[in-house]
Amino acid sequence: MLDPQKQAVIEEVDRLRPELLEVSRFLHAHPELAFEEVQAAAFLARIMEEHDFSVERGVAGLTTAFTATYGSGKGPTIAFLAEYDALPEIGHACGHNLIATGSVGAALALKALLGEVAGRVLLVGCPAEEKGGGKIPLVESGLFRRVDAAMLFHPSNRTEMVKQALGMRDVQVEFFGRSSHAAATPHLGINALDAVILAFNNINALRQQVRSDARIHGIITHGGKAPNIIPDHTAALFYVRALDIGYLDELYEKVLGCFEAAASATGASYHVKRAGHDYHPHKINYALAQLFRQNLEALGGEVDQGPEDEDLGSTDVGNVSRVVPTIQPTIAICGPKVSCHMPEFAVAAASPSGEEGMLLAARAMALTGLDLLRDRDALHSVKAEFAGGKRP
Ligand SMILES: [Zn+2]
Ligand SMILES: [Zn+2]
Repeated sequence: MLDPQKQAVIEEVDRLRPELLEVSRFLHAHPELAFEEVQAAAFLARIMEEHDFSVERGVAGLTTAFTATYGSGKGPTIAFLAEYDALPEIGHACGHNLIATGSVGAALALKALLGEVAGRVLLVGCPAEEKGGGKIPLVESGLFRRVDAAMLFHPSNRTEMVKQALGMRDVQVEFFGRSSHAAATPHLGINALDAVILAFNNINALRQQVRSDARIHGIITHGGKAPNIIPDHTAALFYVRALDIGYLDELYEKVLGCFEAAASATGASYHVKRAGHDYHPHKINYALAQLFRQNLEALGGEVDQGPEDEDLGSTDVGNVSRVVPTIQPTIAICGPKVSCHMPEFAVAAASPSGEEGMLLAARAMALTGLDLLRDRDALHSVKAEFAGGKRP
C-alpha cells in the first residue's frame, strides 16, 4: 500500500485521465515534423495554462519550444520533458504523442502535491527530437541550470529502466570535379561521382575496424545530372555514432580521412560541412532509474528481464543528461516484432496499450518526482552519482 501522498498522486492521474487521452489523441491526429510542431506546442502550452502553470513560449529562440512552471523557488525543481515531433510519412511512429502526454500527466499530478511539499514543477516543451536536436539550444540557453532532475519516458516494445544512447555527429561532404562528355572526352573530366563512391567504399573498409558500439551510415544526396555528363558536383550526408564522445571524435577524423583519400584518388576537391550539433551519449543515472523502477513496480509495472536491449539509437536527451541527472526509461506498448519508426508503431501509439503505458509512465514519473521533492537522501544520491559519475 502506498502512503497517502503517493496515493493522492495516483488519484490525480486517474482524475486527469480523460483530459490526458484527449491530449495524446490530438497530437497523434495532428503529426508535425521537427521544428514545425506549431499546433502541438500551442495545444500543450494552453493545457498547462488552464492548469495555472506560468507558460513561456518561444524559449531559446525556438518557435515551438515552451516552458510551463508551477511552484515556488523553494525546494527542488523537477523537470518533465515533452517531445512532440513526428516522422515524415509515418506520423507518430516514434510515439512522441505519448511522451508529451506522459510528461504533461506527471507534471500536473505532481503539481497537485505542491501544497504539501516544497518545490517547483517544470514542463519543458522540446521540439525536434527526430532531427535537428531541439534540446541542444535549450541546454545552451541555461534553462536546465535551475533544474535538479529531469525525466521523460519513451514507448517501446520493452520495459527497460536504463537505455544507453549513442553520441551522433552529422557530416555533409561535397565533391567538386569537372564536367565533360562521358563518351567523347572523358579524359578531360574529373569525376565527382567516383569520389563520392570511393568515400563510401573507404568508409566500408573502415567499418571493419571499428568498435561494436560504433555506427557510420549515409546517403548520396546529389549524384550527378545525366549519364553522358561526367558529374562535376556530388554530395553525401553521413551520421557517425559511438557510445563515447572521445571515440566519436576519433572516428570522425577517420571519416574525414576517407573523404580526403577519395578526393585524392579522383583529383576532385572536396568540402565538409556540419548540418547540426552533436547528440551526446546518455549519461546514465542509476540512482534515479532505481527510484523510477521502485515506483513502477509498486504500480504493478514489470521490467523486462534479460540482457539490456542492444538496439541503440541517439537522442538529444543525451545532451540534457550531461547537465542534469536525467532518465528516459522505456515502457512496452507493443510486441517484439514492432519497433519504433515502423508504421505499426504509430498504430500502437494510439492503441489502448499505448495509452495505458503512457498513463503508467505518468504515474511512475510523478511518484519519482515526489520522492525527489520530499526525500533529501534520495535527491542527494541522485546528485552525488551525477557529480561523481559513480553508480551507487
Ligand atoms: Zn524516433
Ligand atoms: Zn522517439
